[in-house]
This record gives sequence, structure tokens and C-alpha cells, in this order.
Amino acid sequence: MQKFSYHTHTNFSDGKNSAEEMIQQAVALGWDELGISDHLIVHKNLADSFSWYSWKKEPKIFHFDFNSIYDSFARHIEDVRKIANRYDIKVRIGAEVDFFTYSGWLDEFLKFKDKIDLDYYISGNHFLFIDDDCSNIIDIKDAAHMDIKEQINCIKRHFKTLGEAAKSGVFAFIAHIDYIRKTQICGRFDFLEEKKELIKIFAENNTATEVSTKGLRKANDFYPNCDMVKQLMDNNVKLVISDDAHRVTELGYNFSDAEKVFSDNNYSNRWFFSENSK
Ligand SMILES: [Zn+2]
Ligand SMILES: [Zn+2]
Repeated sequence: MQKFSYHTHTNFSDGKNSAEEMIQQAVALGWDELGISDHLIVHKNLADSFSWYSWKKEPKIFHFDFNSIYDSFARHIEDVRKIANRYDIKVRIGAEVDFFTYSGWLDEFLKFKDKIDLDYYISGNHFLFIDDDCSNIIDIKDAAHMDIKEQINCIKRHFKTLGEAAKSGVFAFIAHIDYIRKTQICGRFDFLEEKKELIKIFAENNTATEVSTKGLRKANDFYPNCDMVKQLMDNNVKLVISDDAHRVTELGYNFSDAEKVFSDNNYSNRWFFSENSK
């Protein structure tokens, strides 16, 4: 059984528990490691979005530029490292980054990455993209405000952007690759070409992705769904189990179900940090 999760959140972003509570729970579970990956969402045009009415209520999560978030992230890292020193578990501090492709975003992100002392990054995209370059975004829960044709275009761009995140080579792994199924029009049998293309990009770029049990909590199947997990396995993509825990009770949530998918398929191409791999 996998005894770690690298995709978790604390009350530094939208988690319900403190880093210390999450670490204590990981110790109680007998885990070897815990990765804390709070949200890092930076987009220059948030305030122009249709969804700004809800985002502005969460100033801890949504930011206009990387400079404005640097100090609080640096403090967070320092605090978590101090706490982690008191416990007998390896704690890594990372971030779950929404990847955007508008001009200047990647440069700003890479500058931030060079400056700050984070151990790793995962990419998790949570938005729909109105333009090809992601310069205007909308919350998935607001998708229904667009006509169906526009929603389809937005979802295609979403998958394409995940592919760009993979190609960037920055991320340890890409999170919840069919999160977009939260929209009503992206079911198991929809956007099959886009999903296939994305998996091909992962295979070509040796990009890892997760089998997240958050999907079991929120959407009746793993993120991504079992069909995609099978396809990832057919393409020999490295996989890691995640819980995307936002509270202590979600750490390791239904990991045995995810392990069963691996054993049923006799699949052993698991993702680890390279210094841990055998
Ligand atoms: Zn996420
Ligand atoms: Zn997450």
C-alpha cells in the first residue's frame, strides 16, 4: 500500500486543517512521507472574469501576480519546515499550480520557482479557458452560462493546456486530468480524442499523473475515470495515487481501492521522487 500522498492542502489555501494536523495524521497512519501542495493560482485577468464574484471571496487562493504571493508562500514554507522537524516523517512542501499559457505567465512562474524554496510542483487546472492563450478564464461551475458550442471549445482548450503543462517539464506530475468532468458535458464517453491526445503527450514526455481518490468522494470514480486509467496503463504512463486531501480525514482516503486497480491490471509503473525509486 502506498504510504504517502503528495497532493494535499492545508488552511494556507483551501484546506480545513493546519499543516501540523495533517502531519500528525500522516504519522498516525504510519506513512513514510507527506507532501503538502497548497494552491498557487496566479492569473493577471482574474478580476475581469465572469467568476470574479466568487473568487474575490477567497483572497488566500486567487492572486494577480507571483510577486504579491512570494512573502506569504515563503513564510508558509518556513513555518511548515519548522513543524516538520518535530515529527518523524519526511515532509515535502510543494504547490499545486494552475498552468496558463498567456504571454509572460511561464516566465513569471519560472522566476518565482527559482527564487522560492519549494520541493516540487504539481499541475492542477481548475478553470475553463475562453481564449486559446488562457488570457481569460471562467470557473467550471459557471460553465453553464456559456452556450454549448463555447463550452465545448473551452473544454478542448482545457485538455490542450494540460498537455502544455506536461510538455513544460516543470511538474512532478499532473493532477486530476479529467477534473473537467465536473461540467455536465464532459462525461466518460466525451472528448475521447482530446483525452487520447493528452495521454499520448504524457507518454512521449515521460510525464506522470495521478489516480486520485478525490474523484471517489466527489464524482463516483477516480480522477481520471477508470477508462482513462486503463488507457494510461496501456501507454505505460507513470502513476501515483493521490487523495487531494483537504482535511485530515481525507488523507489516504480509499487508497486500497486505487491499489486494487493497480494489482488487478498487474501494473507497477509507479511514480516516486527519483531519490526514492528503486
Ligand atoms: Zn486541484
Ligand atoms: Zn488539490
